[in-house]
Amino acid sequence: KEGVYLEIQTTLYDKNDHLIFVRDVTRLHLLEKMRKDFVANASHELKTPLTVIKGYLETLSMFADSLPKSMQKGIVNMSEQSERMEQLIEDLLLLSRLESDDKREENQWHKISDLTQSIQKAIEPILTGEHTLIIDIPDDARLYGSYKELYSAFSNLIVNAVKYSPDGGNIEIKWESSDLNGVFSIKDSGLGIDPRYIPRLTERFFRVDKGRGSKTGGTGLGLAIVKHVLLHHDAKLQIRSQPNYGSTFSCHFPVSRTRTDSIQTISPTH
Ligand code: ADP
Repeated sequence: KEGVYLEIQTTLYDKNDHLIFVRDVTRLHLLEKMRKDFVANASHELKTPLTVIKGYLETLSMFADSLPKSMQKGIVNMSEQSERMEQLIEDLLLLSRLESDDKREENQWHKISDLTQSIQKAIEPILTGEHTLIIDIPDDARLYGSYKELYSAFSNLIVNAVKYSPDGGNIEIKWESSDLNGVFSIKDSGLGIDPRYIPRLTERFFRVDKGRGSKTGGTGLGLAIVKHVLLHHDAKLQIRSQPNYGSTFSCHFPVSRTRTDSIQTISPTH
């Protein structure tokens, strides 16, 4: 029947017999859809009032010099928090789009070095000079997918590597391909992550240290975004980390989505 969702599982009962379990999950699907719609609508509705608040704050900061010190501090604080809220809304909207079945940007072949170069340019303001980006990506390496989605996944991982290496150090960004797959990896020598938290990192709003997260301006949605983007690209995320020594986040793409030659004529059927 249309609109009915069933979950079917089979198990071998004995040599010749199978047990078939059928579960009606229509209600679960409806609830999930309601959750997604609510988050998408609420995030969208929050955009307009925030734009108005930010506008007035900008005007206020022009006159900040004539205000008492405590009010100047308040304006700086409000500006920082409204930037944070804007980032949160943007991330929620992006996650909603990634979760919905709406039409997606068409998949195309992209030079991986183009992606990393524009990310590098965009993150210049957060590079304090303490960090050294070591980028090792063959110029002819290409990936088949959505530029916007890949950009947000890779930039979230690179920004995290910077954010969670407060003492600076090297950040290695690499592309390696073999007959089996293509791997995009980011290695930092920062704070690292306790192994017991690793399985939870891609949950929405999960942060190892909430206090640390609010200081570094995180939303807790970055790795959830990475997970969804990789799912769209038939890829998997691998996380290896050692507290106080650093972390490596690797995105494993199937070989059908990777090329290393400069001319591409056939597209995979994704
Ligand atoms: P956030 O916006 O808080 O950075 P993410 O979803 O991107 O959210 O990451 C979730 C949590 O995973 C972070 O709060 C942080 O605790 C941890 N994390 C992510 N990347 C790294 C990293 N490179 N090094 C150490 N911890 C990390």
